[in-house]
Amino acid sequence: MKLKLHWQIFIALIAGVLFAFVGRSFDFETIITTKISVLGDIFLRALRMIIVPLIMSSIISGVTSIGSAQNFGRLSLKTIGYYVMTSLFAIVTGLILVNIFRPGVGANLGLDRMPEDLNANVEKIGDTLLNIIPTNPIRAMVEGDILSIIFFSLLFGFFITRVSEPYKTQLTNFFQAIFEVMMKLTHLIIRFTPVGVFAIIAKLVAETGVDVFIPLAGYMVTVISGLLIHAFITLPLLLSIIGGISPLAHFKAMSAALLTAFSTSSSSATLPLTIDSIENNAGASNRVSSFVLPLGATINMDGTALYECVAAMFIAQAYGIELAIGQQFIVVLTALLASIGAAGIPMAGLVMITIILRAVGLPLEGVGLILSVDRILDMMRTATNVWSDSCGTVLIARSEGETDLKVLRGLNQPVTK
Ligand code: ASP
Repeated sequence: MKLKLHWQIFIALIAGVLFAFVGRSFDFETIITTKISVLGDIFLRALRMIIVPLIMSSIISGVTSIGSAQNFGRLSLKTIGYYVMTSLFAIVTGLILVNIFRPGVGANLGLDRMPEDLNANVEKIGDTLLNIIPTNPIRAMVEGDILSIIFFSLLFGFFITRVSEPYKTQLTNFFQAIFEVMMKLTHLIIRFTPVGVFAIIAKLVAETGVDVFIPLAGYMVTVISGLLIHAFITLPLLLSIIGGISPLAHFKAMSAALLTAFSTSSSSATLPLTIDSIENNAGASNRVSSFVLPLGATINMDGTALYECVAAMFIAQAYGIELAIGQQFIVVLTALLASIGAAGIPMAGLVMITIILRAVGLPLEGVGLILSVDRILDMMRTATNVWSDSCGTVLIARSEGETDLKVLRGLNQPVTK
């Protein structure tokens, strides 16, 4: 019997950790970080290879099936409403925990190394909104500028439905065909996920020891508990109460994508698996998922939002600066903005903290305090980000009247591969 994909990935993950520990004890960790890691690079490159054509064809074929402008408007409102609402839930969870645990108070931390490009990133967020409109869509594709690609694809897809026949059918079929091809290609790459995950995790563990975690344990526990509460209580409650969806069945359906998000720390790189799991395992339509998922992978980051808030508050506490309620409110709002602005790539959230620090007048060097443990928290927040995108997709699919979801409560179990 063939082992299901998520089990294969899970075993690869554990094997990667063990292998790295063996490597560290027997001094062959450089072989892991230089040679074995190539397998991880191949996997990540393959995923990145398909992202632009996959997003474009997915959105265009999805939008052509949405139909009228009215449907389109309704779907957009629901999607944005879900993103903002769940991100705020996450931030407030983090804010409450960081005020209860107060992990930064009395923390005696030497400044670590500074991340590069702090200022460059602060400038970038101001332009983010404007940059959504590409001056040249082809350049946006070449540079992998996901938000601009989404913007152009949405418009392009929408106006396909507005042209006369035969062009309408020709173009609809054309992009549908590309999407089918991209999904086939995705399936091939997905088969190699266990190998990729093994190599990525082995390299990560071989490079980082566990001793860096000790001085920041309180901070890590705060972030991780917040993420767990959001992922295992808040979102499942929404699934169950609003959508009548079984959180457990949905979790099983999404497990391969979630493990990949955890291992790669990148929502964008995970997107092909997210789309695949949502459509084939959870049973949501391409009409909804092609709209909600690519956008979600770019702007809906609940885990990142929670982390931004906790990290900024931690830095304030570590510097002995009390933030008043008004300032904490600014932290909440800027954490939301920072999570929207963060790209779906590893460590994007870390540099975005500078936006919050600026807004409430904290020293930017504070980011250096939390740098050493960022990667492990990044893995967890990325999995939370992808989990929230997937929950949003099935909730919206449900509200759009999709009754054939495979994850509805009390119905058949999902067919995971
Ligand atoms: N790595 C995260 C993601 O891709 C973003 C972040 O750094 O918080 O979802």
